[in-house]
Amino acid sequence: MADSPRDYYGVLGVGREATPEEIKRAYRKLARELHPDVNPDPASQERFKAVTAAYEVLSDPEKRRVVDLGGDPLSSGGGGGGAGGPFGGFGSFGDVFEAFFGGAAQGGRGPRSRVRQGADALLRIELSLAEAAFGVRRDISVDTAVVCQTCTGSGCAPGTSPRTCQTCGGAGEIQTVQRSFLGQVMTTRPCNACAGTGQQIPTPCSTCGAEGRVRARRTITVDVPAGIDDGMRIRLSGQGEVGPGGGPAGDLYVEISELAHETFTRSGADLHCTVALPMTAAALGTDLVLTTLDGEEKLDIRPGTQAGQVITLRAKGVPRLRSSSRGDLHVHIEVRTPTKLDEEQERLLRQLAELRNEEVAVGGAHGGLFAKVRDALGGGR
Ligand code: ZN
Repeated sequence: MADSPRDYYGVLGVGREATPEEIKRAYRKLARELHPDVNPDPASQERFKAVTAAYEVLSDPEKRRVVDLGGDPLSSGGGGGGAGGPFGGFGSFGDVFEAFFGGAAQGGRGPRSRVRQGADALLRIELSLAEAAFGVRRDISVDTAVVCQTCTGSGCAPGTSPRTCQTCGGAGEIQTVQRSFLGQVMTTRPCNACAGTGQQIPTPCSTCGAEGRVRARRTITVDVPAGIDDGMRIRLSGQGEVGPGGGPAGDLYVEISELAHETFTRSGADLHCTVALPMTAAALGTDLVLTTLDGEEKLDIRPGTQAGQVITLRAKGVPRLRSSSRGDLHVHIEVRTPTKLDEEQERLLRQLAELRNEEVAVGGAHGGLFAKVRDALGGGR
């Protein structure tokens, strides 16, 4: 049946350059679809076996090298013809187990530990611009799983201890042999009675119900460094969820959400704001006082300042994270053209326009652009 080398990569639908992680992911996906519990028809079972064999080969660096050299590690010597079926021995069902349940069953078959690594936790805090810029120390309330104090994580009522699972005899898995037209097929699945751990707790801890952990609220202090930005996360190692069976805690991530500032918008370490000037002030020049992150700052508006001009205040922006340098503060100038002129104001502006030779031709007296547009529209009277 195995004359030419099988296309193990093709069976899993991965390329030859696939990483072990990609191979595992591809296998998990296919195995979920094709698992005999899900799809008992013979064609799916056949594919499930082929997929499993391909995974067994490609997840083993030695066997994978044989494949990459054009060989077939399952065609001879490598267990071919052994008990279990055409692909020679489902001896590595620990690999299957591992792919389904994460790396807990390391080293192949056998019970997995009841004690497992805890998950990471995430929470968000809101900071003002000034807090994000200069750093702040915050007490935050965290609600995570912590080790149960009653049983110190064992899950057993004080004075009792776990016992070997009576269903699987401590193996953590149950093997069943099924007959099919291919012959005997052995499948292995985790023991339900002990969740694959091989152990049972006869007298569970009354505080945590054998979980070894309980939820608790506690307060921890976070030092937010100067220069942190919206969306960044601070990692607090070992402050996340304690794992089942009192397993080591994951990490806690504190995500920063920066509140909008009424004057400034932030772009990295730089700040931007807009100052609106009356037309006369822009023309004549003036002094303004601007409240920056560092306090009041005098802003010198030069005579003849234009709309859209940007005045840059060096190093008045946000400190850069883990650096002594700072960004800049950019003041964008807007010029307000007066509306609703009274008679006297209008007269003065006309006089100014006349003095500056800036009278705008209305109605085409000087043949300006405006007049041309009107002609084109066929108006012009
Ligand atoms: Zn407990």
